[in-house]
Amino acid sequence: MSLANELEGLIRTIPDYPKPGIMFRDVTTLLQNPTGIRKAVDGLAEAFSDIDYDLVAGIEARGFILGGALAYAQNRGFVTIRKKGKLPHVTLSQQYALEYGVDHVEIHADAVKPGQRVLLIDDLIATGGTAEAGMQLIRRLGGSVVGAGFVIDLPELGGARRLEGLGARVECLMR
Ligand code: IMP
Repeated sequence: MSLANELEGLIRTIPDYPKPGIMFRDVTTLLQNPTGIRKAVDGLAEAFSDIDYDLVAGIEARGFILGGALAYAQNRGFVTIRKKGKLPHVTLSQQYALEYGVDHVEIHADAVKPGQRVLLIDDLIATGGTAEAGMQLIRRLGGSVVGAGFVIDLPELGGARRLEGLGARVECLMR
């Protein structure tokens, strides 16, 4: 069985969450399976095994789980990209559009040094708005986003193409 098929079998779909009409891909079932979490983290490591990076940046909250495990396994530092108001020190904030309205993600201003090479990780990419905001934060600090990795891509929402259009290499373990 391919890695994509194996991981897909561990993801639960919740209809009408968080709103009617949305099919929510629930990664918690993959994470709670010992083979699932290992293969997801190893799959992301393998997808970027040909490139060099200094830091892994994870997007709150499931990006912390996958990105944290990847940073540990690859002996890299880990940077948190958080929802607004969660970080205690000086932060940079980036606004991004939601279906209705806007939201913000934040990073500590000293989390990435100019010239550092950063791998951005989240569980899932849909429209790409969240990941694009994360990329912008890293770039505003002078870092370079050498890759963006996700377990799941929802290709009909165009997020992977959107990030590629911004010059990022995107790797997803399944679609
Ligand atoms: P985007 O900004 O539209 O690409 O949405 C991606 C962000 O929303 C990521 O941080 C995901 O964790 C979260 N997200 C959106 N849809 C889903 C879903 O179906 N399952 C899990 N997370 C989702």
